[in-house]
Amino acid sequence: MNLENIAILGLARSGIAAAYKLKELGFSPFLSEMRPKTEVPNSSELIRDFECEFGKHSERLFDYETIIVSPGIPLTSPIILELRRKKIELISEIEFGFRIKHKDSKIIAVTGSNGKSTTVSLIYHLLKTAGFHTILAGNIGTAFTSYPIEKSGIDYIVLELSSFQLDLIDTFQPNVAAILNITPDHLNRYENFAAYVKSKFSIFKNVTNKDIAIINGNDDVILNYSKELKINFEYFGLNKYSQFIYNKSIYHYDNITFSLQHSKLLGAHNAQNSMAAVLATAPIIQDSVIMQKAIDTFVPLPHRLEICRIKNGITFVNDSKATNTDSVKYALTSFSQPVRIIMGGSDKGEDFRILNPLLKKHTVKIYLIGETTSKMTETFQSVCPIEAFTNFKDCIYKAFQDSHSGDVVLLSPACASYDMFQNYEDRGNQFKTIVSEL
Ligand code: ADP
Repeated sequence: MNLENIAILGLARSGIAAAYKLKELGFSPFLSEMRPKTEVPNSSELIRDFECEFGKHSERLFDYETIIVSPGIPLTSPIILELRRKKIELISEIEFGFRIKHKDSKIIAVTGSNGKSTTVSLIYHLLKTAGFHTILAGNIGTAFTSYPIEKSGIDYIVLELSSFQLDLIDTFQPNVAAILNITPDHLNRYENFAAYVKSKFSIFKNVTNKDIAIINGNDDVILNYSKELKINFEYFGLNKYSQFIYNKSIYHYDNITFSLQHSKLLGAHNAQNSMAAVLATAPIIQDSVIMQKAIDTFVPLPHRLEICRIKNGITFVNDSKATNTDSVKYALTSFSQPVRIIMGGSDKGEDFRILNPLLKKHTVKIYLIGETTSKMTETFQSVCPIEAFTNFKDCIYKAFQDSHSGDVVLLSPACASYDMFQNYEDRGNQFKTIVSEL
């Protein structure tokens, strides 16, 4: 890769981080962004610091050898197709970071449809507790290349990777790689489910048997695909691999037992996430006492099955991060009490029928908001009573008014949030504020 001849396509968090990293290293990338400059935060700083174009992707891009592409740009967009025709190298910011990172820093990479942020945060906490100099980056918030990764001193880089970030890797080789689960998600961006699965599996593209490869042994989609690869996988799971997790304990293959008795992570799905984190870090930490301490002291992330208030015996749970049906399934099975579920938002192309049996079993009423209201009303009409709202506050107040002591009011939308909110954090924070005012 010739660092003098790089352009950046798409100026969101990772694109901007890559641009400043190149500048720090003494180079001057060209920046191209489709949005007008008025819509790009910090555009005046970018114009000051770089050669940029806004509101278009011009032919100037064809002069570059390598282009770092933002994960937000679909690979079917005309500019990508044109760049591919011209045989220009297209890479993600993750691939760029891998190429420039210090050779001694090791990478632990995690992907999956659900549980990525929880698992990488637990891995980070385990390694920090054991005294390693560790950074946490990628899809979880801070871009990989915004850290001083080219310098020595970082022991472990823990990366949360979305399928979009994995789509444009080439030489990226993590020392530890894990796929947590694969369920239909982002079907509006992939040609079909098989293409999405393939994208997730590219995390193992360059992984060898010297590295650690971890997969979910209960996930048939993952198991089937993994058979085609010549990698020695390590498995975690709840049923077939029950020697690993049962009775709130994790049994590591080295005959070490870790208890989840004091873990603050709720539900079976989090037991799976914890197991994946243990498989990723036990060979590194090699101290079961420290690992147990880290498992016990980990504080779960907000917006994931977060109990935010108990009022008049009614438990309010913020699971705003549940943006697909699989996470809603796990949320529903985490409670034995009657659930009043708040669902809906912007549509990611999923078939909601898959939720019907669990909704029938666990919920007493469904409260709908957002763009998916008519699709969900049609899907769930025979399941249990439904009421639709145009206003989030009215929806939460009605769920509260309907509730009896012992009920759970659960925000677990199965949809993205962009129709009514800035993002899932905004949706979860608004939920918590309204609930605190009840
Ligand atoms: P991600 O970063 O992959 O979106 P999070 O850890 O942020 O994952 O969790 C997102 C949602 O998925 C939350 O609602 C959470 O309760 C649920 N979840 C977490 N782990 C799993 C899992 N292993 N399987 C299914 N759902 C999960």
